Amino acid sequence: MIAERIAAVRERIARAAERAGRDPAAVTLIAVSKIKPAADILAAYEAGQRDFGENYVQEFRAKAAELPALPGARFHMIGKLQSNKAKPAAELFHCIHTVDSVKSARRLNAAGKRLPVFIEVKLSDEESKSGLDAAAVAPLKEFLDGAPNLILKGLMTMPPWSPDPEASRPFFRRLRELAELHALPDLSMGMSNDLETAVEEGATHVRVGTAIFGKRVYSR
Ligand SMILES: *Cc1c(COP(=O)(O)O)cnc(C)c1O
Repeated sequence: MIAERIAAVRERIARAAERAGRDPAAVTLIAVSKIKPAADILAAYEAGQRDFGENYVQEFRAKAAELPALPGARFHMIGKLQSNKAKPAAELFHCIHTVDSVKSARRLNAAGKRLPVFIEVKLSDEESKSGLDAAAVAPLKEFLDGAPNLILKGLMTMPPWSPDPEASRPFFRRLRELAELHALPDLSMGMSNDLETAVEEGATHVRVGTAIFGKRVYSR
């Protein structure tokens, strides 16, 4: 089941890349396994999946302890990064997509591990979304450029949820333009419902949960 869904998502990426005249290999599929059991990560790994996204430091720490060694697997932190969790996040993850303050960047750098990072940008005015304003990218980038352990890869965003994937396009386009302005190569954007739009607009990393692992059921 998970293997078939991964194949279907890869096919969607390939078709969108083809439409945009891009190489599908330039798009990293991150399988978002938040709230899902370690067994699902293992099933995806056995199907050839190597990049995984998790949102919560504590949840991932518990699951990582249940997993065998998975050579070549990379775990991406895509959830809100609280600065007091920056050190454990740096230790557990291979890449952080959600750096949105100098304070958490300083703590990530102090963990002493070389770490690729993305700056999370908020392009809508929804109260619930994290990320910083486009105008605040420059000072955070300046800090990151001087942080010896952090390698700034690009920008990440999450548009307001909409059933219409076209609704995400202006946000993806703005993220691409902002990344170009700052000469940053990578764009982390696109989820289960709008990954084609994201790939067409230049995504290098798409973060896909539901389309691979099924609906998430939150329990209290
Ligand atoms: C949960 C989550 C995703 C995956 O969303 P789906 O709609 O399930 O594909 C992607 N990015 C972030 C930041 C998330 O929190």
